[in-house]
Amino acid sequence: MELLIDQHCHSVVGADLDADRFASLCTEAAHATLSNLDSQVGLAVRRWCPPALDLPPHASWPEYLDRRAELGWAEAGRRLLRAAGLCTLLVETGIQPPEAVAPARLGEWAGAGVHEVVRLEQVAESLHGTVDAAGFAAAFERALAARLAAGAVGVKSIIAYRWGLAIPAQRPSTAEVTRAAGGWLAGPARLTDPVLLRFVLWQGVATGLPVQLHTGFGDPDLALAGADPALAQPFLAAHRTPVVLLHCYPYQRQAGWLALAYPHVFVDVGLTVTNLGARAPAVLAEFVELAPFDRLLFSTDAYALPELYLAGAAGFRHALARLLDGWLADAALSRPDAARFVEGFGAGNARRLYRLAD
Ligand SMILES: [Zn+2]
Repeated sequence: MELLIDQHCHSVVGADLDADRFASLCTEAAHATLSNLDSQVGLAVRRWCPPALDLPPHASWPEYLDRRAELGWAEAGRRLLRAAGLCTLLVETGIQPPEAVAPARLGEWAGAGVHEVVRLEQVAESLHGTVDAAGFAAAFERALAARLAAGAVGVKSIIAYRWGLAIPAQRPSTAEVTRAAGGWLAGPARLTDPVLLRFVLWQGVATGLPVQLHTGFGDPDLALAGADPALAQPFLAAHRTPVVLLHCYPYQRQAGWLALAYPHVFVDVGLTVTNLGARAPAVLAEFVELAPFDRLLFSTDAYALPELYLAGAAGFRHALARLLDGWLADAALSRPDAARFVEGFGAGNARRLYRLAD
């Protein structure tokens, strides 16, 4: 398969890691040790990553972590990202691991172009303590415009984490935003007010750039039942700006239906494919039951560990090949159709959506 566009990823830790730290960064669990990596995501990392560090696939954790320490975080990171086969990274900068590696360096390691995706809530939180309630809305607009003028290609919302996806279809009024900003500015910077979360999301919609929306599973900060993308249907139906439903699992079938029903809705398989490991082909098949093929997007959602770039990319290539082998054996599509499907899913759909150069 050609090089992939990773349309949603994050920075990695620029430091050596002990076993417990590595384990806790490898899963979405609240507290993890190496024994928690006896799971699909652990198997996926041990399957795909050791060869990049000159070890056989499925090397044990002690062997792998010793070799990683011997090479050092920078050489290990360079090898893992280079082996992922990525041509473009869209790095979401709203969450940073400790001692984060700069996006430009990730791009050098991967041999890939890099663009930023701006987290809307982070833009708002950066204004806390610098504006008054009446000035918040205009200050947010200016701050977001400045970030986009600096070259960002999309925006991201974590309203699923902070409130849930049952988002009213109406933009909040100026009076509602001012009142809510007054309450927020009197407390901590973390943005959890539902009116302000809606406001920044709709400001994102107003940019016309693709809006990435966290849906489905994540870490335990999230109320999973409120992260079902089907809850966002009234919001999705109320505008025509492209929306990318990130992750989706275990609601991948709901996400596929939303993509079928609304031509501006896209689905992303990142994080899910990495975490499902050997089960990824089955779940990938569910993603594509209803979703039109030009609305499918690949990402790794790699965060903190460069291993998650390689496990995500290699796992995706493998799962997609498995899926298509079955379809081709069943004469469900032609080889040219299969080639088009792969090219679009892995890169072409993202290139068109984010207007990236070839
Ligand atoms: Zn992410």
